[in-house]
Amino acid sequence: MHRFFVSQQWISLTEARLEGDAAHQAARVLRLRPGEVIQLLDGSGEAVDVRLEEVMPGLCRGVVLGRGKVTAEPQKRLGLYLCLAQREKFEWMLQKCTEVGAAEFTPVISSRSLVQEGSGWEKKQPRWQRIIQEAAEQSGRGRVPLLRPPMPYPAALADAAGRFACALLAWEGEQTRGLRAALKGADSAAVFIGPEGGFSEAEAAQAAAAGLQAVSLGRRILRMETAAVAAAVLVMDELEG
Ligand code: SAH
Repeated sequence: MHRFFVSQQWISLTEARLEGDAAHQAARVLRLRPGEVIQLLDGSGEAVDVRLEEVMPGLCRGVVLGRGKVTAEPQKRLGLYLCLAQREKFEWMLQKCTEVGAAEFTPVISSRSLVQEGSGWEKKQPRWQRIIQEAAEQSGRGRVPLLRPPMPYPAALADAAGRFACALLAWEGEQTRGLRAALKGADSAAVFIGPEGGFSEAEAAQAAAAGLQAVSLGRRILRMETAAVAAAVLVMDELEG
């Protein structure tokens, strides 16, 4: 079934509508027809089943068949702090980690990040938000993960330590501590993923001073995007398990 995140105002007790991009998507891209059933998500964690009555590129209308809670939406929060990287790689991480269940993304500018300033963010933000929303629709999430503005590394460390029960630095230099052991029943977690050049020793020390635990993702060195998805899967499994 096709899912759409829509504004709450588009759904009443008995009827619902799609406007703008969502209507265009339904009518022109997916070529949905009257009689087909779609699911609308208003971002509150509720899903509304709607049978389409009228389908036009500017406006679709339908009747509400029923409502339910989205069970696929994680109850526990994972925040990913991803060092800025080449655009395709970064977008891939946003998409895949949304599918896995991340609640929010914070781009980070570390010493070896490929991208060294936050400028150009205004151009990237809408595109990245759309990638996240489409991944959330595709994977049946009840909420669209939050995309936060880029932060310099030191500010990001303090931010993560203050907002999550457990803040972790995936560090290729960590030999012993695994991710599961570090989480130990925490109900929310932040994970930092470094750029292709990795985190420097100084950055690892800075993270420890800010209260983060360095964790290993195994004996192999993973590419950044592999590390992001692997860490997200391990954390979600531990948080939800
Ligand atoms: N250039 C570095 C590797 C960087 S990998 C080197 O050759 O040593 C990119 C990022 O993925 C790392 O900064 C880290 O956050 C994560 N990562 C990759 N493999 C990891 C592992 N085995 N344990 C923990 N983190 C890992």
